[in-house]
Amino acid sequence: MVVSAVSAVAMTAGSIAAMPVTAQAATKDYAKALKLSLYFYDANQCGPDTTGNGLSWRSACHNYDAQASLDSAVGLDRTAKSIIRSRNGGKNTVDLSGGYHDAGDHIKSAMTMGFSCVSLAWAYYSYKDVFDKTGSTDHAKYIMREMSDYFMKATYLDGNNNVAALCYLVSDSGDHVYWQSPENQTYHRPTYWATPSHPSADTAGEMAAGLAGTSLAFKDSDPSYASKCLKYAKALRDFAKKYPFTSTEGIGDMYKSDSQADDIAWADLWCHLAEGKMSSYHPIAYDGSYGGSYDGWLYSWNKVWGGYAALLSQLGYSAYTTVVKNDADRLLKNPQSGRYYVVGDSWGASRYSCIWQLYSLKYAEKSGDKQYVRNAQGQMDYLLGDNPTGTSFVIGYGNKYPLQPHHRAANQSKGVAEHILYGTLVGGPKDETGIYDDYWESYQCTEPALDYQACFVLAASALCKATGQTDASGADAVIRSAKEFNTGANFGGGSTPSQPTATPRPTATPKPTATQRPTQAPSNPTATPKPSQGQTSTIQDGWYYIKNVNSQKYLTVAGNYAYAAANIEIGSGNGAQGQKWYLENRSDGYFTLKSGLGSYNIDIAYGKDENEANIQIYNQHGGDAQQFKALAVNGASNTYVIATKCSNTTKVFDVYGRRTADGTNVMQWQYTGAANQQWIFEPVNGQSAQPTARPTSRPTATPKPTATQKPADPTKAPQTSGKGMDLDYSINDWGSGYQVSLKVKNMGNTAVSSWTLKLKKSDINVASSWNVTIKESGEYYVITPLSWNSNIPAGGSVEFGICGSGHPSSSIGYTFS
Ligand SMILES: [Zn+2]
Repeated sequence: MVVSAVSAVAMTAGSIAAMPVTAQAATKDYAKALKLSLYFYDANQCGPDTTGNGLSWRSACHNYDAQASLDSAVGLDRTAKSIIRSRNGGKNTVDLSGGYHDAGDHIKSAMTMGFSCVSLAWAYYSYKDVFDKTGSTDHAKYIMREMSDYFMKATYLDGNNNVAALCYLVSDSGDHVYWQSPENQTYHRPTYWATPSHPSADTAGEMAAGLAGTSLAFKDSDPSYASKCLKYAKALRDFAKKYPFTSTEGIGDMYKSDSQADDIAWADLWCHLAEGKMSSYHPIAYDGSYGGSYDGWLYSWNKVWGGYAALLSQLGYSAYTTVVKNDADRLLKNPQSGRYYVVGDSWGASRYSCIWQLYSLKYAEKSGDKQYVRNAQGQMDYLLGDNPTGTSFVIGYGNKYPLQPHHRAANQSKGVAEHILYGTLVGGPKDETGIYDDYWESYQCTEPALDYQACFVLAASALCKATGQTDASGADAVIRSAKEFNTGANFGGGSTPSQPTATPRPTATPKPTATQRPTQAPSNPTATPKPSQGQTSTIQDGWYYIKNVNSQKYLTVAGNYAYAAANIEIGSGNGAQGQKWYLENRSDGYFTLKSGLGSYNIDIAYGKDENEANIQIYNQHGGDAQQFKALAVNGASNTYVIATKCSNTTKVFDVYGRRTADGTNVMQWQYTGAANQQWIFEPVNGQSAQPTARPTSRPTATPKPTATQKPADPTKAPQTSGKGMDLDYSINDWGSGYQVSLKVKNMGNTAVSSWTLKLKKSDINVASSWNVTIKESGEYYVITPLSWNSNIPAGGSVEFGICGSGHPSSSIGYTFS
């Protein structure tokens, strides 16, 4: 799920109390918290290595990421693709298995993974003795190694060891529509890439820092692995420095990074440290002010300047010690016991608390001022249960803790989780009064994430060091007794001192009783009409043309050429392969529809259970997105409604706007029973599809209800000019054709009621399109919206797509009018 990070201006302190501080005895078990904290990474591990990891309830998932198609990779140009293919023996697939799921979902973001990896490496570099004594070293190094293996797998170097391509994201926010365990997920996962012509410096910087940190951690135990990590770290750092820009496709709606300068500086610092060349390092001067590009206090996936200053201070650059003190003082002067001071943002506030604890502890290490240790302790103790409600915000720590994490793997029932995520820090309270909503959909409070957890590991290990707590027997007792743990896990190292030997497991720790959900639970969404299940019909396996009753036109692959995500529209019958579909029944009442053009099935884009989800063809995988049911229309032979499995048959194949023109898009829409949702299955029998008859009466196009569209701001008059409009686009070119994904954005302060975009015909040719109307005029294609996507609120955007043949220009000329 999306994980917000505050910007400089949005950050506000909790109130700073005037009460004097009372010294606190260490009442909490930081060593237990630290040792358990690493198991969150086992909960989020992805790929074949997951089987046998530290948790008994996780096993391999997304092994099919090992065969991600290059055809559907976003952001790769031909040069990069040819380098990748040549590294992979000519295969048209790429191995992106492994790594870690991002948060409560299953996407893999190399940026947050890189941030987490370097944070673990920093904790280990700083407090190696704490990791050793608590028996956490092998586990921490296992996680760093799994992450680094993934980074190196996702990075392709050219013959000069320069980065040719890196995968910054596997899957995207489309993943969020699935709520199921990762082991059961079959949904195809798009991949997003950066190259020199389409860079992603923030991700490359975080990956480089993570690899350099891992290199440092393995320098003595596995020097050859350490030097391999360093080689990739330096290549990624150089790539980030040389191309300091970022790409937002796929990731922009989740992790849009504000800047790259911080990630580049962080990568460079870690590369110098790992290489043992700090004597030649020139730190970036701190300009003495907060805000601007140097947000001195932040350490999150978005900005890392706070960490940069804290590490430099740790390494003896004394000018930065003042920065660290200022960061710590800013919010932690004389905190009042039982109050939660470091909030920063209502979304995932606990991570900021942990980082402020780290600043305080780093300053205490330099100054010897114990006040800063007590300040940090007060805030960590709050998170561990010293607060007015007595709730620990670390799952499985203490007697009362969150029961409903926003985490698909652990909480498939969307209620009290089936599996206790021991050691997992959740987003935490929303404000300094401690308001917390233990409800699975309240992701701001209940979602954990790789990056939050890394901040927790940093703070917990620093607190162990500061308080001298290194006895992790409290964690070992939990690991021995709770059914969630796999006591036979081997984290690949030698011995893990306080890891207990496998002993017969006593009965599982009883779960706390579920508390009654308070009244703010959302009421059920309005029930959608659903075709009656009794109408389900079996159509025999075989080849069919599929004709829409309203338009008398056929389901057609746009342009009659096949590639992953080629659009499906209606077209006049012509007998082409792009109009033939092989229906194959499964044992469960569903069937798949394979294209006559090859190994592609009809597919609901991203398997979304949403109105307007596009219907396309995609590589055959047989997941829910590619399964359908036929529901007979009473009194008509061979006529059916085609319901989709990903909507649990509440939504069906629908011709947009009840239109009849060739090229009209086919999409998923809730069942209405209208003729634009009825389809005649005509057996192919070696004959061409019948020439299309004109519909007897021309239905008027009814505008679709705009369920999800935001109303325009009523206080502002909508404008229609092209002023303030902007365009983002990305081209996926597979050699014989291409797809362009376009996003029209309203950058202005008022809504626009309509818009017109012109694309230069010399740069592109349009074989098909969706969600827009395209006409030709002189040198331009003139693109206008449909009725339901013409209004764009201020700051909003509309997305649509175009397919063409041959190659487009590398940049497409456009204007708005
Ligand atoms: Zn996975």
